[in-house]
Amino acid sequence: MQTLPLLTWPDNIYAVDAGYVRPGLAAVHLIVEKGRVAVVDTAHNAALPRFLAALSHLGLTPEAVDYVFLTHVHLDHAGGAGAYMARLPNAKLVVHPRGARHMIDPARLFAGTVEVYGAENARRLYGEPVPVPPEKVIEAADGQVFELAGRPLQCLHTPGHAKHHLCLWDERARACFTGDAFGIAYRDPSRADDSSTKHNRPQTPFLIPATTPTQFDPEAMKASIHRLIALEPVAMYLTHFSRVEDAPRRAVDLLRRIDTFVLLAEAAPGEGEARKEAIHARIERYLLDEAPAESREWLKPILAVDMELDAQGLAYWCEQRRESGG
Ligand SMILES: [Zn+2]
Repeated sequence: MQTLPLLTWPDNIYAVDAGYVRPGLAAVHLIVEKGRVAVVDTAHNAALPRFLAALSHLGLTPEAVDYVFLTHVHLDHAGGAGAYMARLPNAKLVVHPRGARHMIDPARLFAGTVEVYGAENARRLYGEPVPVPPEKVIEAADGQVFELAGRPLQCLHTPGHAKHHLCLWDERARACFTGDAFGIAYRDPSRADDSSTKHNRPQTPFLIPATTPTQFDPEAMKASIHRLIALEPVAMYLTHFSRVEDAPRRAVDLLRRIDTFVLLAEAAPGEGEARKEAIHARIERYLLDEAPAESREWLKPILAVDMELDAQGLAYWCEQRRESGG
C-alpha cells in the first residue's frame, strides 16, 4: 500500500512528491548508491518533511546525503535548499556558478519572487528561503563530474529556460535529470498508474516548454535539448514531473512547440498587458489543439498556471528583442 508520495524507478532512483501546489507537480529526486544519497532539486521549504520521511522509509539517514544538486535557482526547485542543508550535515550543495550567490544570500531572489507573486503569496507558496553557508556551496563547471560512492554524476550547463540551469547526467542509469530544460510533463491526474510504486510504466505524458520569465532564450533552449538527446538517454527525470521515456520522440514534440510558441508570440497583436493576454490565449489554444482529444478535458484546468507564466516569459523575450533591435 502506498503510504508515502514516493515513486520507485530503476537504478535506485526515487521521486518524492514535494506537495507543491498540487500532487504530481514538483518532484524531489533521490539517487542512491551503496547507501549514499544525492538529491536533485529540493522544491520549496514545505517539502523537507516529505523528503526526510522518504529517506527514513528507504532506511537512510540525513547523514547519508552527500550532495544536493540544484538544476536552477527558481524557488519551486531551490526554495528549500537552505532548509535542507541545515538538516543534512554531510551534504554539499552543487549549483550553477550563476546561481550560487543566490543560495548564499537568497534575499534578492526572494524579492524577485515577491515582485511577481506578492509578498503573501510568495510566503505561502515557498516559505522564506534560508541562506546556505558559503563553504557548503560548490559551483559546478560545465562537464564537472561528482562521484556518489563511485557512481559518476555529471553536471551539464543547459541554458534556455534560465542562464543558471544545469542538468545532471547519470551515466550508470543512462538517465538525465532535466529540471525545466526538457519541459514540463502533464499526465491525466485521474489515472492511478503514476502514483503506484515499483517500476510502473508511466502514461505517455504531454510535454510543454517552460518559457517562464525572465531568461527564456529559444535558441539556447533548443540547443540544450539537442545536447541532452545526443547522450542517448534511456529516461529523463523532469522536476515537473519525474520519469519520461522515449526522449527523442518527446524532444521532437518539444522542439516544435518551442518554435510555435515563438511564432505565435511574435505575431501577437497589442502592447504590454494586452499583448501578453493575446499570447496566453494563442499558446493555450495551440496546445489544446496539439493534445489528443481525450486529454483536453483534464489538461485545460492544469495548464492555466503554466500558460500564464509561459506567456509572461514569451512577452518579455519579444520585448527585449525589439528593444535590442533583434
Ligand atoms: Zn524554472
